[in-house]
Amino acid sequence: AKSSGRNTYRFFESSMNDNVYEQLRLLQDFRIALENDQLSLVYQPIYDSRGRGLASAEALLRWTHPDHGRVAPDSFIPMAERTGLIVPIGEWVLDQACSQLRCWQDAGWKDARVAVNLSAMQFSHSGLVEMLQTILDRYRIKPESLTLEITETTAMQNAETSIVILHKLRRLGVRIAIDDFGTGYSSLLYLKRLPVSELKIDRGFVHDLTLQKEDVAIVEAVVTLANKLGLSVVAEGVETTEQRDLLVDLGCDYLQGYLLGRPVHAETLLGLVTEGTRA
Ligand code: C2E
Ligand code: CA
Ligand code: CA
Ligand code: CA
Repeated sequence: AKSSGRNTYRFFESSMNDNVYEQLRLLQDFRIALENDQLSLVYQPIYDSRGRGLASAEALLRWTHPDHGRVAPDSFIPMAERTGLIVPIGEWVLDQACSQLRCWQDAGWKDARVAVNLSAMQFSHSGLVEMLQTILDRYRIKPESLTLEITETTAMQNAETSIVILHKLRRLGVRIAIDDFGTGYSSLLYLKRLPVSELKIDRGFVHDLTLQKEDVAIVEAVVTLANKLGLSVVAEGVETTEQRDLLVDLGCDYLQGYLLGRPVHAETLLGLVTEGTRA
Protein backbone atom coordinates (compact mmCIF):
# COMPACT_ATOMS: atom_id res chain seq x y z
CA ALA A 1 0.00 0.00 0.00
CA LYS A 2 1.07 3.54 -0.53
CA SER A 3 -0.07 7.08 -0.20
CA SER A 4 -1.01 9.03 -3.29
CA GLY A 5 -2.23 12.52 -4.12
CA ARG A 6 -4.04 14.59 -1.53
CA ASN A 7 -3.30 12.16 1.30
CA THR A 8 -5.57 9.48 -0.03
CA TYR A 9 -4.53 6.01 1.02
CA ARG A 10 -4.52 3.39 -1.71
CA PHE A 11 -4.19 -0.33 -1.52
CA PHE A 12 -4.61 -3.28 -3.87
CA GLU A 13 -2.93 -1.15 -6.49
CA SER A 14 0.11 -3.38 -6.76
CA SER A 15 -1.36 -6.41 -5.08
CA MET A 16 1.44 -8.68 -6.29
CA ASN A 17 3.99 -6.81 -4.22
CA ASP A 18 1.85 -5.77 -1.32
CA ASN A 19 1.81 -7.55 1.95
CA VAL A 20 -1.12 -9.94 1.86
CA TYR A 21 -1.66 -9.57 5.61
CA GLU A 22 -2.01 -5.87 5.21
CA GLN A 23 -4.70 -6.44 2.61
CA LEU A 24 -6.58 -8.87 4.80
CA ARG A 25 -6.34 -6.41 7.64
CA LEU A 26 -7.87 -3.67 5.54
CA LEU A 27 -10.62 -6.00 4.42
CA GLN A 28 -11.41 -6.73 8.07
CA ASP A 29 -11.37 -3.02 8.79
CA PHE A 30 -13.72 -2.38 5.90
CA ARG A 31 -16.20 -4.94 7.23
CA ILE A 32 -16.69 -2.84 10.34
CA ALA A 33 -16.39 0.56 8.65
CA LEU A 34 -20.13 0.90 8.20
CA GLU A 35 -20.96 0.01 11.82
CA ASN A 36 -18.32 2.41 13.07
CA ASP A 37 -19.53 5.43 11.09
CA GLN A 38 -16.39 5.59 8.97
CA LEU A 39 -18.34 5.77 5.73
CA SER A 40 -19.87 8.97 4.42
CA LEU A 41 -21.10 10.49 1.18
CA VAL A 42 -19.96 13.59 -0.62
CA TYR A 43 -21.81 15.14 -3.53
CA GLN A 44 -20.39 16.52 -6.75
CA PRO A 45 -22.46 19.14 -8.59
CA ILE A 46 -23.70 18.45 -12.12
CA TYR A 47 -24.55 21.62 -14.04
CA ASP A 48 -26.87 22.31 -16.92
CA SER A 49 -24.61 23.32 -19.82
CA ARG A 50 -27.06 26.00 -20.96
CA GLY A 51 -26.52 28.09 -17.88
CA ARG A 52 -29.61 26.95 -16.04
CA GLY A 53 -27.66 26.24 -12.91
CA LEU A 54 -27.28 23.19 -10.74
CA ALA A 55 -29.14 20.21 -12.20
CA SER A 56 -28.17 17.36 -9.95
CA ALA A 57 -25.44 15.89 -7.76
CA GLU A 58 -23.55 12.61 -7.86
CA ALA A 59 -23.20 10.83 -4.51
CA LEU A 60 -19.65 9.52 -3.98
CA LEU A 61 -18.65 7.21 -1.16
CA ARG A 62 -15.84 8.10 1.26
CA TRP A 63 -14.09 5.88 3.79
CA THR A 64 -12.10 7.47 6.57
CA HIS A 65 -9.91 4.78 8.14
CA PRO A 66 -8.99 5.42 11.80
CA ASP A 67 -5.25 4.94 11.09
CA HIS A 68 -4.81 5.52 7.37
CA GLY A 69 -7.21 8.42 6.92
CA ARG A 70 -9.08 8.68 3.67
CA VAL A 71 -8.99 5.54 1.50
CA ALA A 72 -9.59 5.94 -2.25
CA PRO A 73 -12.89 4.44 -3.53
CA ASP A 74 -11.07 3.02 -6.55
CA SER A 75 -9.29 0.73 -4.07
CA PHE A 76 -12.05 -0.31 -1.67
CA ILE A 77 -15.01 -0.50 -4.08
CA PRO A 78 -13.48 -3.34 -6.13
CA MET A 79 -12.71 -5.15 -2.86
CA ALA A 80 -16.28 -4.64 -1.66
CA GLU A 81 -17.51 -5.93 -5.01
CA ARG A 82 -15.34 -9.08 -4.83
CA THR A 83 -16.46 -9.93 -1.31
CA GLY A 84 -20.13 -9.09 -1.76
CA LEU A 85 -19.93 -6.35 0.88
CA ILE A 86 -21.03 -3.91 -1.81
CA VAL A 87 -24.62 -5.15 -1.50
CA PRO A 88 -25.29 -3.96 2.09
CA ILE A 89 -23.02 -0.95 1.62
CA GLY A 90 -24.67 -0.03 -1.66
CA GLU A 91 -28.05 -0.19 0.07
CA TRP A 92 -26.76 2.14 2.77
CA VAL A 93 -25.51 4.54 0.05
CA LEU A 94 -28.93 4.59 -1.62
CA ASP A 95 -30.68 5.12 1.68
CA GLN A 96 -28.36 7.98 2.64
CA ALA A 97 -28.57 9.66 -0.76
CA CYS A 98 -32.38 9.50 -0.82
CA SER A 99 -32.60 10.76 2.74
CA GLN A 100 -30.38 13.66 1.67
CA LEU A 101 -32.53 14.29 -1.38
CA ARG A 102 -35.59 14.59 0.89
CA CYS A 103 -33.69 17.12 3.06
CA TRP A 104 -32.66 19.19 0.03
CA GLN A 105 -36.21 19.25 -1.34
CA ASP A 106 -37.59 20.20 2.09
CA ALA A 107 -34.97 22.94 2.35
CA GLY A 108 -36.33 24.55 -0.82
CA TRP A 109 -34.35 22.93 -3.62
CA LYS A 110 -37.61 21.67 -5.11
CA ASP A 111 -36.29 20.02 -8.26
CA ALA A 112 -33.27 18.45 -6.58
CA ARG A 113 -31.97 15.30 -8.20
CA VAL A 114 -29.34 12.84 -7.10
CA ALA A 115 -27.26 10.27 -8.98
CA VAL A 116 -26.05 7.12 -7.24
CA ASN A 117 -23.47 4.63 -8.54
CA LEU A 118 -24.62 1.03 -8.74
CA SER A 119 -22.02 -1.73 -8.84
CA ALA A 120 -22.33 -4.79 -11.07
CA MET A 121 -23.22 -7.05 -8.16
CA GLN A 122 -25.91 -4.67 -6.89
CA PHE A 123 -27.32 -4.34 -10.38
CA SER A 124 -27.83 -8.08 -10.78
CA HIS A 125 -28.91 -8.67 -7.16
CA SER A 126 -32.41 -10.14 -7.01
CA GLY A 127 -33.62 -7.77 -4.28
CA LEU A 128 -32.72 -4.58 -6.15
CA VAL A 129 -36.14 -3.39 -7.33
CA GLU A 130 -37.86 -4.09 -4.02
CA MET A 131 -35.07 -2.39 -2.08
CA LEU A 132 -35.32 0.69 -4.28
CA GLN A 133 -39.10 0.82 -3.93
CA THR A 134 -38.79 0.64 -0.13
CA ILE A 135 -36.27 3.48 -0.03
CA LEU A 136 -38.26 5.68 -2.46
CA ASP A 137 -41.36 5.19 -0.29
CA ARG A 138 -39.45 5.76 2.95
CA TYR A 139 -38.37 9.25 1.88
CA ARG A 140 -41.32 10.03 -0.44
CA ILE A 141 -38.97 10.43 -3.40
CA LYS A 142 -40.33 10.91 -6.90
CA PRO A 143 -38.57 8.11 -8.79
CA GLU A 144 -37.56 10.40 -11.65
CA SER A 145 -35.43 12.46 -9.27
CA LEU A 146 -33.15 9.46 -8.70
CA THR A 147 -30.61 8.48 -11.35
CA LEU A 148 -28.78 5.17 -11.10
CA GLU A 149 -25.37 5.12 -12.75
CA ILE A 150 -24.17 1.79 -14.08
CA THR A 151 -20.97 1.46 -16.05
CA GLU A 152 -20.96 0.48 -19.67
CA THR A 153 -19.08 -2.68 -18.68
CA THR A 154 -21.79 -3.66 -16.16
CA ALA A 155 -24.55 -3.01 -18.69
CA MET A 156 -22.89 -5.00 -21.45
CA GLN A 157 -21.57 -7.91 -19.34
CA ASN A 158 -24.74 -9.82 -20.01
CA ALA A 159 -26.72 -7.52 -22.24
CA GLU A 160 -29.87 -9.67 -22.45
CA THR A 161 -30.14 -9.89 -18.65
CA SER A 162 -29.38 -6.18 -18.35
CA ILE A 163 -32.26 -5.33 -20.66
CA VAL A 164 -34.68 -7.25 -18.41
CA ILE A 165 -33.38 -5.54 -15.24
CA LEU A 166 -33.39 -2.12 -16.88
CA HIS A 167 -37.02 -2.56 -17.93
CA LYS A 168 -37.94 -3.32 -14.30
CA LEU A 169 -36.11 -0.19 -13.18
CA ARG A 170 -37.81 1.87 -15.86
CA ARG A 171 -41.20 0.62 -14.64
CA LEU A 172 -40.18 1.84 -11.19
CA GLY A 173 -39.63 5.24 -12.80
CA VAL A 174 -35.99 5.88 -11.90
CA ARG A 175 -33.55 7.23 -14.47
CA ILE A 176 -30.57 5.25 -15.67
CA ALA A 177 -27.23 6.64 -16.81
CA ILE A 178 -24.54 4.64 -18.56
CA ASP A 179 -21.36 5.65 -16.73
CA ASP A 180 -17.82 5.71 -18.17
CA PHE A 181 -19.36 5.58 -21.61
CA GLY A 182 -16.84 4.78 -24.32
CA THR A 183 -14.43 2.82 -22.12
CA GLY A 184 -16.08 -0.57 -22.40
CA TYR A 185 -17.27 -2.74 -25.19
CA SER A 186 -20.55 -1.41 -26.44
CA SER A 187 -22.75 -2.76 -29.13
CA LEU A 188 -24.89 -0.15 -30.83
CA LEU A 189 -27.49 -2.82 -31.38
CA TYR A 190 -27.83 -3.31 -27.62
CA LEU A 191 -27.56 0.36 -26.83
CA LYS A 192 -30.70 0.87 -28.89
CA ARG A 193 -32.49 -1.72 -26.76
CA LEU A 194 -31.28 -0.50 -23.36
CA PRO A 195 -33.97 1.64 -21.72
CA VAL A 196 -31.62 4.30 -20.36
CA SER A 197 -31.97 8.09 -20.00
CA GLU A 198 -28.42 9.35 -20.31
CA LEU A 199 -24.85 8.67 -21.31
CA LYS A 200 -21.93 9.90 -19.22
CA ILE A 201 -18.89 10.43 -21.38
CA ASP A 202 -15.85 9.09 -19.56
CA ARG A 203 -13.40 11.69 -18.32
CA GLY A 204 -10.68 9.95 -20.36
CA PHE A 205 -12.15 11.55 -23.50
CA VAL A 206 -12.50 14.95 -21.86
CA HIS A 207 -8.93 15.06 -20.57
CA ASP A 208 -7.19 15.67 -23.93
CA LEU A 209 -10.20 17.09 -25.73
CA THR A 210 -8.51 20.37 -26.58
CA LEU A 211 -5.36 18.57 -27.78
CA GLN A 212 -6.63 15.55 -29.65
CA LYS A 213 -9.08 15.86 -32.49
CA GLU A 214 -9.87 12.14 -32.21
CA ASP A 215 -11.43 12.82 -28.81
CA VAL A 216 -13.47 15.67 -30.28
CA ALA A 217 -14.71 13.27 -32.96
CA ILE A 218 -15.69 10.72 -30.32
CA VAL A 219 -17.59 13.24 -28.21
CA GLU A 220 -19.31 14.54 -31.35
CA ALA A 221 -20.33 11.01 -32.32
CA VAL A 222 -21.66 10.23 -28.82
CA VAL A 223 -23.72 13.45 -28.78
CA THR A 224 -25.15 12.70 -32.23
CA LEU A 225 -26.00 9.15 -31.23
CA ALA A 226 -27.57 10.29 -27.95
CA ASN A 227 -29.69 12.89 -29.74
CA LYS A 228 -30.95 10.28 -32.17
CA LEU A 229 -31.80 7.91 -29.32
CA GLY A 230 -33.38 10.66 -27.20
CA LEU A 231 -30.77 10.48 -24.43
CA SER A 232 -29.06 13.26 -22.49
CA VAL A 233 -25.27 13.53 -22.44
CA VAL A 234 -23.21 14.30 -19.36
CA ALA A 235 -19.50 15.05 -19.68
CA GLU A 236 -17.43 14.23 -16.61
CA GLY A 237 -13.94 15.29 -15.60
CA VAL A 238 -14.25 18.88 -16.87
CA GLU A 239 -11.15 20.61 -15.50
CA THR A 240 -10.51 23.63 -17.75
CA THR A 241 -12.57 26.45 -19.24
CA GLU A 242 -11.37 25.38 -22.73
CA GLN A 243 -12.79 21.90 -22.18
CA ARG A 244 -16.03 23.37 -20.87
CA ASP A 245 -16.50 25.70 -23.84
CA LEU A 246 -15.78 22.96 -26.33
CA LEU A 247 -18.16 20.52 -24.62
CA VAL A 248 -20.92 23.13 -24.66
CA ASP A 249 -20.27 23.76 -28.37
CA LEU A 250 -20.35 20.03 -29.06
CA GLY A 251 -23.82 19.87 -27.49
CA CYS A 252 -23.31 18.13 -24.13
CA ASP A 253 -26.35 18.70 -21.93
CA TYR A 254 -24.69 18.49 -18.53
CA LEU A 255 -21.20 19.11 -17.19
CA GLN A 256 -19.39 17.73 -14.15
CA GLY A 257 -15.80 18.20 -13.04
CA TYR A 258 -13.34 19.95 -10.77
CA LEU A 259 -13.66 23.19 -12.79
CA LEU A 260 -17.35 23.42 -11.86
CA GLY A 261 -17.09 21.90 -8.41
CA ARG A 262 -15.37 19.18 -6.42
CA PRO A 263 -17.35 16.66 -4.39
CA VAL A 264 -18.54 18.42 -1.20
CA HIS A 265 -20.62 17.77 1.90
CA ALA A 266 -24.37 17.88 1.52
CA GLU A 267 -24.80 21.26 3.25
CA THR A 268 -22.17 22.86 1.03
CA LEU A 269 -23.90 21.51 -2.05
CA LEU A 270 -27.19 23.12 -1.04
CA GLY A 271 -25.37 26.46 -0.97
CA LEU A 272 -24.53 26.04 -4.67
CA VAL A 273 -28.21 25.99 -5.65
CA THR A 274 -28.87 29.70 -5.17
CA GLU A 275 -25.39 30.54 -6.45
CA GLY A 276 -26.17 28.64 -9.65
CA THR A 277 -29.39 30.48 -10.44
CA ARG A 278 -27.78 33.86 -9.83
CA ALA A 279 -24.90 33.16 -12.22
P1 C2E B 1 -17.12 7.53 -11.16
O1 C2E B 1 -18.49 7.02 -10.93
O2 C2E B 1 -16.67 7.66 -12.57
O3 C2E B 1 -17.07 8.92 -10.39
C1 C2E B 1 -16.36 10.05 -10.82
C2 C2E B 1 -15.01 10.12 -10.18
O4 C2E B 1 -14.26 11.15 -10.83
C3 C2E B 1 -15.04 10.50 -8.71
O5 C2E B 1 -13.92 9.88 -8.07
C4 C2E B 1 -14.84 12.02 -8.78
O6 C2E B 1 -14.33 12.57 -7.58
C5 C2E B 1 -13.83 12.10 -9.89
N1 C2E B 1 -13.83 13.40 -10.55
C6 C2E B 1 -14.83 14.29 -10.64
N2 C2E B 1 -14.47 15.38 -11.35
C7 C2E B 1 -13.19 15.15 -11.74
C8 C2E B 1 -12.25 15.94 -12.50
O7 C2E B 1 -12.52 17.04 -12.97
N3 C2E B 1 -11.02 15.38 -12.69
C9 C2E B 1 -10.68 14.15 -12.19
N4 C2E B 1 -9.45 13.70 -12.42
N5 C2E B 1 -11.54 13.41 -11.46
C10 C2E B 1 -12.79 13.90 -11.25
P2 C2E B 1 -14.06 9.09 -6.70
O8 C2E B 1 -15.02 9.79 -5.78
O9 C2E B 1 -12.68 8.83 -6.22
O10 C2E B 1 -14.74 7.74 -7.13
C11 C2E B 1 -14.08 6.83 -7.95
C12 C2E B 1 -14.99 5.73 -8.41
O11 C2E B 1 -15.42 4.92 -7.30
C13 C2E B 1 -16.28 6.24 -9.05
O12 C2E B 1 -16.03 6.60 -10.38
C14 C2E B 1 -17.16 5.03 -8.92
O13 C2E B 1 -16.88 4.08 -9.93
C15 C2E B 1 -16.71 4.45 -7.58
N6 C2E B 1 -17.65 4.87 -6.53
C16 C2E B 1 -17.66 5.97 -5.76
N7 C2E B 1 -18.71 5.97 -4.90
C17 C2E B 1 -19.40 4.82 -5.15
C18 C2E B 1 -20.58 4.22 -4.59
O14 C2E B 1 -21.27 4.76 -3.71
N8 C2E B 1 -20.95 3.01 -5.10
C19 C2E B 1 -20.26 2.39 -6.10
N9 C2E B 1 -20.68 1.20 -6.53
N10 C2E B 1 -19.15 2.93 -6.66
C20 C2E B 1 -18.73 4.13 -6.18
CA1 CA C 1 -20.43 7.68 -11.62
CA1 CA D 1 -17.69 7.97 -14.55
CA1 CA E 1 -14.86 5.60 -13.34
